[in-house]
Amino acid sequence: MQDYELTIQHALWRIKRLFPRKEIVTKQEVGVHRTTYGEMVPRINQLAGALRRLGIKEGDRVGTLCWNNYRHLELYYAVPCMGAVLHTLNLRLFPKDLQFVIEDADDQVIFIDQTLIPILNQLAGKIPAVKRLVLISNGQPVPEHQLGEMLDYETLLAAESTDYPWPQLKEQSAAAMCYTSGTTGNPKGVVYSHRSQFLHTMGVLQVDNLALSEKETVFPIVPMFHANSWGLPYACGFAGSKIIFPDRWMGDAPSVVELAETEGATIVAGVPTIWTNVAGYLEQTGKRLPKVHTVICGGSAIPRSLMERMDKLGLHMLHAWGMTETSPLGSTGVVRSWIPENQVLDRRLTQGIAVSGVEIRIADPASFEELPWDGVAFGEIQVKGPWIAKGYYNNADPEKMTPDGWFRTGDVAKIDPDGHIIIVDRTKDVIKSGGEWISSVDLENAIMGHPKVLEAAVIGLPHPRWDERPVAFVVERPEYKGKVTSEEIREFLDGKIAKWWLPDEIRFITEVPKTSVGKFDKKVLRSGAKPFTEAANATAQR
Ligand code: AMP
Repeated sequence: MQDYELTIQHALWRIKRLFPRKEIVTKQEVGVHRTTYGEMVPRINQLAGALRRLGIKEGDRVGTLCWNNYRHLELYYAVPCMGAVLHTLNLRLFPKDLQFVIEDADDQVIFIDQTLIPILNQLAGKIPAVKRLVLISNGQPVPEHQLGEMLDYETLLAAESTDYPWPQLKEQSAAAMCYTSGTTGNPKGVVYSHRSQFLHTMGVLQVDNLALSEKETVFPIVPMFHANSWGLPYACGFAGSKIIFPDRWMGDAPSVVELAETEGATIVAGVPTIWTNVAGYLEQTGKRLPKVHTVICGGSAIPRSLMERMDKLGLHMLHAWGMTETSPLGSTGVVRSWIPENQVLDRRLTQGIAVSGVEIRIADPASFEELPWDGVAFGEIQVKGPWIAKGYYNNADPEKMTPDGWFRTGDVAKIDPDGHIIIVDRTKDVIKSGGEWISSVDLENAIMGHPKVLEAAVIGLPHPRWDERPVAFVVERPEYKGKVTSEEIREFLDGKIAKWWLPDEIRFITEVPKTSVGKFDKKVLRSGAKPFTEAANATAQR
């Protein structure tokens, strides 16, 4: 067989030759921007030419501080296809972390959306190694900044030829990189190769995985800096799917629903918090999205109450699990054909089964001894496969690999005999009470089942007698603000969870703090949490 290098240039070939008529739609301040792959390909060639003129060579890192839009997609193609490395910058990092990742990656050029200038401006004078800044704008006035000269994206493109002599690339060369939003210490860089992206894309496309095809209209409401928008942009290119981009209106339920409706989205993707907002909005307005047949949901576990609400709204959720280090797709919530009807919902709520290409096991985190798939034993999820990291950029972090070559995810799970993964918690979030483990995820999901509760996050706080005990931070649904009591929630939980799991305190808050990608930020909750009161300290483990 031929020695064909698996590179992203293949996606470029497909969009050019097979899908030139397929649309890419981006929300704008007023209306939408509409283009096609056919119109985009010459611009991708021009962009590569502009990068070369700026001195970008193979292997150089090119940063992007951009929302989800068509120009970011042009960068997704031009940068790796010319041999450089696309570094998508997380626009919600703290300035010191943003500075760290720009320096660590040694970004040569940064492309920046006009509305994000104030974010980069916090680093004015602090990132001297960045040689050029390129402004992406629609001609609006540029916010004041001290970042020095900025080149204009469209002017750069206009000066270049619409042909580009794409180089022969090696599949093992770096294509892109993303940093994990580290919970402690500095963020860590994960470098994706062309080969890993190619194979990951093939994995995403499979029918038992995310099943993208040419006839689908895909609406990724996942930032393009979060694990390459879960691999969806390249998967759309391979498949020829129409793409809808929300630009900066990602968290806004009315505009998400309107865009999905008017552009005919069939597959949408986002973290649970997005769907909690969308479900609330649909219930309130009576609107529905009948064309959407799959809501891909990952990033954190789907609460049962959310899946049930979405089912009622005619929106079928497909659970997916993964992480930046797994490109990210590791498992999908497909339900095996032999599962009886009355168990289907339970199985859909699991993190599903490993996608083909990824091997998975649960193991004792200390001895690495593999644990049985009996739905009872739980241990750390460890994975291997062609799109799984084996270390970090500039930071080998040998602790993350087992001696026999498995990547340690830090997620704790059980696996049932059919291979469905049931995530119990993150190692660092699990609550150790009197030597026993309490799953913060299960407890949160139980509380979020209460009809008056919008969100609930649970953390363990130090307790003099039990080491740690759970405290729940609860946000009421807007119509029940100030009208829910701790007692009511405790009563609701009675019989649904073990008695000794009942949170020692329930604290009502206005909003659960979120991470840069919309997950509950327990680090922030922990750092700001007052210790238990004396009364709570006196509680016995029930
Ligand atoms: P990140 O690299 O920021 O995407 O974070 C990855 C982490 O998110 C994983 O290690 C899990 O802890 C969590 N996660 C992702 N998907 C799921 C899911 N479907 N269910 C539960 N946790 C998830």
